[in-house]
Amino acid sequence: MRRMKQHVNIALFVPHQGCPKDCVFCNQSRITGQKRENRLTEEAVRQSIEQQLSTVSTEQNAEIAFFGGSFTGLPRSYQTMLLTIAKEYVDRGLVHGIRLSTRPDYIAPHIMEYLLPYGVTTIELGCQSLDDEVLALSKRGHTAAQVAKAVDIIRRYPSIRLGLQILPGLPGDTLAKSVRTVEEIIKLKPDFVRIYPALVIAGTELEWLYLTRQYEPLSLEEAVQWTAEMWPPLLRAGIPVIRMGLHSSDDLRSEGTVLAGPFHPSFRQLVEEELFFRLLKRMMERIVPDMGPSVEVTVHPADETALRGRKGRNWRTFVSCLKKKEKQVVLVLDRNRPRWQISWRTGGNHEQRLSFCEL
Ligand code: SF4
Repeated sequence: MRRMKQHVNIALFVPHQGCPKDCVFCNQSRITGQKRENRLTEEAVRQSIEQQLSTVSTEQNAEIAFFGGSFTGLPRSYQTMLLTIAKEYVDRGLVHGIRLSTRPDYIAPHIMEYLLPYGVTTIELGCQSLDDEVLALSKRGHTAAQVAKAVDIIRRYPSIRLGLQILPGLPGDTLAKSVRTVEEIIKLKPDFVRIYPALVIAGTELEWLYLTRQYEPLSLEEAVQWTAEMWPPLLRAGIPVIRMGLHSSDDLRSEGTVLAGPFHPSFRQLVEEELFFRLLKRMMERIVPDMGPSVEVTVHPADETALRGRKGRNWRTFVSCLKKKEKQVVLVLDRNRPRWQISWRTGGNHEQRLSFCEL
């Protein structure tokens, strides 16, 4: 079987550039460590691409990615300069495409017609929420209907992959609203999703709202619980979540950047641990006393750490509950099994399975 090439972004940042104004939660300069007033020069773009390309292996598929601002809101001459350089690398076969992030209200048919000849392969739209009240309180400057309209336009260009970003825990958000946002996202059928629980970053309006007690971010535990509700419906719909939680860069970790909120360098791992905890609980309910004295549990090796949980909590709880039912547990790791699934067999009984999709 041929292995899929791993994707890698050759990232270039245009922090806040092209944005009509700042959304309450956003400080891209602080996150990326780059000043918003500094425009990328041709030389800097080439240098950065060359340097990052030197670390890309033949086993990886690279896209040159413009992140951190509203690319399609940049002055056209600046967009043309950036895209022209990126296209040279596409034409030389050194990268397979161009990725850019932008706002839903900065997508229109004429914009798509402009982007297409440069070899743009992926567009990421910041939606943040599909609840109009949350969007208004976050000063996004667009509505949920505008997200749907932008998706409709992008979908007229089948060569372009579409990613949607959501930020649970913004002002006015609730778990129910975030779950509804996911339901609406599923109807839009993106190719992938990113989930970034909202953080209080220094220098944002959210910082002021937080300091004046008008906004309380999610705790880490709440953010894990919310994301654990949001991910399974996306899995069931076959929509990959390519990132959960902000990338733990040096800039983000530097003192005084994240002032409050559910930041964790391994946020996705915490969500996986929570979902395995829920799977083990379901499994316990299905294991009844007359099923034989031992239970063989099988997972993919990459899931072992999440299955065991923080400091082994998940697995310890499970094993001690089974001990009370006078059963021994054996853990088997099998790389032929799918990720995020538990299979188990007791005595001569048929193997049973449960996966994150069923949560
Ligand atoms: S969230 Fe997006 S549109 Fe809003 S300020 Fe940040 S980069 Fe600009």
